[in-house]
Amino acid sequence: MLKVLQNLMQVQSVDLRLNDVRARLATFPKKIAELDARVAAARAEVDHSKAAQLATIKDRKKYELDVELWKEKVRKYKDQTSQIKTNEAYKALQHEVQMAEDEIAKAEDRLLEQMVASEEYDRRIKASEKALKEVEEIVRGERGRMETEKAAANKEFAELNAERERLAVEIPEDMRDHYERIAKKHNGVSLAEVRDEKCTACGMRVRPHVFQEMRRANSEQMFHCETCTRILYYIEPVAAPAAAAANQTSASATSTSES
Ligand SMILES: [Zn+2]
Repeated sequence: MLKVLQNLMQVQSVDLRLNDVRARLATFPKKIAELDARVAAARAEVDHSKAAQLATIKDRKKYELDVELWKEKVRKYKDQTSQIKTNEAYKALQHEVQMAEDEIAKAEDRLLEQMVASEEYDRRIKASEKALKEVEEIVRGERGRMETEKAAANKEFAELNAERERLAVEIPEDMRDHYERIAKKHNGVSLAEVRDEKCTACGMRVRPHVFQEMRRANSEQMFHCETCTRILYYIEPVAAPAAAAANQTSASATSTSES
């Protein structure tokens, strides 16, 4: 096999791994954002419960004040009773007292409702604070794992880059440029194996006479896919005697329908 082809294949194998590591590294910001969002949601639930509790306490104070005000009125009305001269005025005052007492009862009902609600919010605050702690604990663990993974990926990335540089110096510059140009066009994949007389990258058939030339050249010559322009290589399948040869003809005959 051509030395340069061999070197390019090694570079390609490193490049594929680099692609993989790069893709892995690219997932971390989103994963970290998701963890942050989980904590934020749990914290928002605590804030929400506390705000609701605060509103309840404010309402309760208002209703307590209402009760006091109406009670004060009742006291005033009752004080006035002694000065009442007519039966009618007395009745009117009694009516006022009754209305004030109704208001007291209503305010006390609302007060009771608020107290019940307040207990509910207390429970909700406690539950949401507990949930927040749990989420924080889980997220801390996951973040730690993620940092470890990320550090490993960064290390792998650096190692692969170093390996790539080491491999690249062995390749003539014009071939390196050639490889990079094709790689850039094809998402980092510049080489393609020919299998079943087809370019495995784009799936297009290699013309029969080109394929014959490839077999004859036995990788001592460089070929390109006429469709996708990738550098092609062909590795003769390890021929297990007669049966395999027979198989291969039938395999290539049927494989046309597979892809
Ligand atoms: Zn192709």
